[in-house]
Amino acid sequence: SSSTTPIKATLFPGDGIGPEIAESVKQVFTAADVAIDWDEHYVSTEVDPRTNSFLTRESLQSVLDNKVGLKGPMATPIGKGHRSLNLTLRKELNLYANVRPCYSLPGYKTRYDDVDLITIRENTEGEYSGLEHQVVKGVVESIKIITRKASMRVAEYAFLYAKTHGRKKVSAIHKANIMRKTDGLFLQCCDEVAEKYPEIEYEKVVIDNCCMMLVKNPTLFDVLVMPNLYGDIISDLCAGLVGGLGLTPSCNIGEDGIALAEAVHGSAPDIAGKNLANPTALLLSGVMMLRHLKLNKQAEQIHSAIINTIAEGKYRTADLGGTSTTTEFTKAICDHL
Ligand code: NAD
Repeated sequence: SSSTTPIKATLFPGDGIGPEIAESVKQVFTAADVAIDWDEHYVSTEVDPRTNSFLTRESLQSVLDNKVGLKGPMATPIGKGHRSLNLTLRKELNLYANVRPCYSLPGYKTRYDDVDLITIRENTEGEYSGLEHQVVKGVVESIKIITRKASMRVAEYAFLYAKTHGRKKVSAIHKANIMRKTDGLFLQCCDEVAEKYPEIEYEKVVIDNCCMMLVKNPTLFDVLVMPNLYGDIISDLCAGLVGGLGLTPSCNIGEDGIALAEAVHGSAPDIAGKNLANPTALLLSGVMMLRHLKLNKQAEQIHSAIINTIAEGKYRTADLGGTSTTTEFTKAICDHL
């Protein structure tokens, strides 16, 4: 209620459609009377030499101080000699796990009605270590790094998540039959952690087979944990199972209890500034942030208002086959609250 002291949280509206959907979150949170005091940070127009990116040191410090935040999409400028904004955040804030729940939204019909999956992606290494070079002309090399430290950390997070969220099974996704050393080490770490959780069913699934099983019958899975690249791909596949990128939230987990929630999608330059974006993914990311803060009552209220608005079908954005603008859809959610 409005009588409680507001909790400070960092908000990065981000690029492209980011400011439009961030505005939607602010309006919905106000309508739900959520006691959050947003500490807003925009992506700078100049590179900060202290971070070698368009994110300032002050912006990073804001997340370190508040320990919680919500992030809009940030465009990655290609080949300009400074770090990607998302990579900067992940490295500087040590955001080691990306949690992406993927569930069927009642009232929005897709091929499946009963998807309820959690993908947990290792977020700091693997093929995303940025170690690529040309060996000789016509031959390039990319180095995949897997460490015991990062693999144990994400495996431990996945099993703890399963236990605390009443989940029954964890599947480790891999290609250890080919990448014996790297994926082999990742699996070995998952095996070790699994032994500490006898109450949670544990299985290992090869990534190609996992893709086939996911599209044939997504209910075969519960919690999936995997190295960085596989997580990137599989989580988009899962988004496709429930209606696309406009709907799927995520939360980045860092050391010292940092949680930075963000939509799975990017800055959607094709529809930016046109009042067409679906704010649902960022709104549901905001709901994840509220749950992290144990503001469960308001999280549930906002969640139901979103679900009910979509289910009614009167106000839907274009990606869900409707004709509503971002602001009309947002207003409909606020009216539900
Ligand atoms: P994208 O997710 O921005 O867009 C893919 C397609 O989905 C587009 O057609 C877009 O219009 C649509 N879409 C995405 N979000 C939507 C929404 N909320 N409502 C309605 N339609 C939506 O992917 P992209 O085009 O490959 O990337 C654009 C930029 O975003 C790039 O610079 C990329 O690096 C960046 N990006 C950032 C993040 C992040 O900040 N986490 C994630 C992915 C991509």
